[in-house]
Amino acid sequence: MTSLLYPLLDPLPDPAEAPAAPSHWLLTPGPLTTTATVKRAMLHDWGSWDGDFRALTASIRHRLRDIAGVGEDYTVVPMQGSGTFAVESALTTLVPPDGGVLIPVNGAYGQRMVEICRRAGVRHAVLEIEETSALDPQAVAQRLADDPTLSHVALVQVETSTGILNPVDEVAQVTAAAGRRLIVDAMSAFGALWIDPAKAPYEALVFSTNKCLEGVPGMGFVLTRVSALEEARARGPGRSLSLDLVDQWAYMERTGQFRYTPATHVLAAFRQALDEFDAEGGRTARYARYRRNYDVLIAGMAWAGIKPLLPEALRSPIIVTFLAPVHPAYSFTAFYDAMKRRGFIIYPGKMTRVESFRLGCIGAIDVPVMEECTRACVAALKEIGVEVQD
Ligand SMILES: *Cc1c(COP(=O)(O)O)cnc(C)c1O
Repeated sequence: MTSLLYPLLDPLPDPAEAPAAPSHWLLTPGPLTTTATVKRAMLHDWGSWDGDFRALTASIRHRLRDIAGVGEDYTVVPMQGSGTFAVESALTTLVPPDGGVLIPVNGAYGQRMVEICRRAGVRHAVLEIEETSALDPQAVAQRLADDPTLSHVALVQVETSTGILNPVDEVAQVTAAAGRRLIVDAMSAFGALWIDPAKAPYEALVFSTNKCLEGVPGMGFVLTRVSALEEARARGPGRSLSLDLVDQWAYMERTGQFRYTPATHVLAAFRQALDEFDAEGGRTARYARYRRNYDVLIAGMAWAGIKPLLPEALRSPIIVTFLAPVHPAYSFTAFYDAMKRRGFIIYPGKMTRVESFRLGCIGAIDVPVMEECTRACVAALKEIGVEVQD
């Protein structure tokens, strides 16, 4: 570019030249692998108050409500930040000071909700379960019966730290039967695993741009009953300014804008990601692709003698925790580096007791990538001196 005005600026990249295939496949949900077209949707600057951007925000909010399959008694409030910011916003806004939230914990993300409540002074009780066990809805029912001051239950749908799929329907039913309300951290499942509101009544779902909807990271969403926001508003200002869900919602309803600078490029990319979600065939098709990825992954790793941590009944086609090979030459760092050289970024285990690693099935990846991944695992383990079958 030879402009006299902007001599120091690099020329704008030609969108058509954005690389079609990523330099590395991210098997780390998330961030996860996104399509070239989602990345290209970020090559445009938006004014946050501009009418086009407000329309973009409004359309995203409506489309997310449609994906959830709920009606106008629910609304979607976007929240800047990663998924945790949205979880924190939901817990601190929706659980009333004279109530409390029961948090069943079988992994790191359940534990994170406990930590959020502890720091923010949200009354809470913890139902601790083994991190390799499904939680028992009857235990939830019992705790609710024992403590009538608990107004809410907060549950992680898929515990991404192990891949466990928690029994949301059953927990929702015992929660509703006890006259309490459910908040679901649906972060790593929304868009692929559906929660039917008729079977599993909930007050709020929390999710983000960068998991099964395959956008880039930077925004979270709280889908919640409008009545819950109205009740929270009646209680007065929340304890956090930037994470106040009621303020965020009320301002957006009034002006169509965000209170504070939104992640404009992230939302533009997210609209493209939602277009691609629709084009693929929505939730059912996305689930089917993840399921294929998962089947190939499990079969390929079994071939090499590498076993998943959890029994099949507890696993989800979102992310799989594998037991690390028991071999003196194995170290996660060496394995990670050897995988990276082969074009794959993998996840360490998040288990407290067992040595493990995790591979995600989600993102803009399909069967050939998963096949290549299992071959790369075998080659990488051999390279670092671990004997595997092949
Ligand atoms: C990814 C994820 C989150 C949010 O994590 P961030 O790093 O803040 O985006 C929360 N809960 C679950 C279950 C997740 O998978």
